[in-house]
Amino acid sequence: MPQLNLILLGPPGAGKGTQAERLVDDFDLPYYATGDILRAAVKEESELGRKANEYMDRGDLVPDEVIIEVVVDRIDQTEAEDGFLLDGFPRNVEQAEALDGELKRLGRELTAALLIEAADDEVIRRLSGRRVCVKNSHLYHVDFDPPKREGVCDQDGSKLIQRDDDHPDTVKHRLEVYREQTSPLADLYDARGMLRRFDGARPTTEVHDHIRATLAVLRRESEL
Ligand code: AMP
Repeated sequence: MPQLNLILLGPPGAGKGTQAERLVDDFDLPYYATGDILRAAVKEESELGRKANEYMDRGDLVPDEVIIEVVVDRIDQTEAEDGFLLDGFPRNVEQAEALDGELKRLGRELTAALLIEAADDEVIRRLSGRRVCVKNSHLYHVDFDPPKREGVCDQDGSKLIQRDDDHPDTVKHRLEVYREQTSPLADLYDARGMLRRFDGARPTTEVHDHIRATLAVLRRESEL
């Protein structure tokens, strides 16, 4: 089976995490969401968490050397041998270069960069109503995708909370950071013929069908 080495790109709130939940089921890929990894580290008060906390609270990127090590460790593991889905990494050109270098070292290459696009006002609307479960980061929205019981995760029964950095001022800052540091990556991957664009304003199921069909084609092409 050919590898699927994938990254998800897009502004916060575009639906990357929601799509990832579905793609992981479809393609049985290990999923590494750097935001989730960092939030877990903050909760555990590990050294990584202590290094990342202040940056995350402000909506800034944590330093490259901190996050690159986290990702390199993951894609080096046996479970990621046949592929992976990275969400939230790379977030700037330096991280993209580090990922290239690591994949090269492993004799692998990226299959595709999946860009889920969404306008700022849509992002703000989504993030202000977003809720996440404390146990496994399952995602909900108070209006568009509410849980069956208010404040409780349907999948694992844990409590739903609003992320600190989903408050409006921090969201605006995160969008600026995305525009300045992360969005240039779309051009970079486009120039390499690796970028696939998806309209995050479409219904979740439609976006999912579109991504799944795109990946099925990519997998078939790489088998030829
Ligand atoms: P996310 O859940 O992807 O929105 O990430 C939440 C926060 O974690 C970001 O606002 C950053 O502070 C931090 N973070 C996640 N991934 C990265 C990364 N690749 N580089 C730097 N900081 C990151």
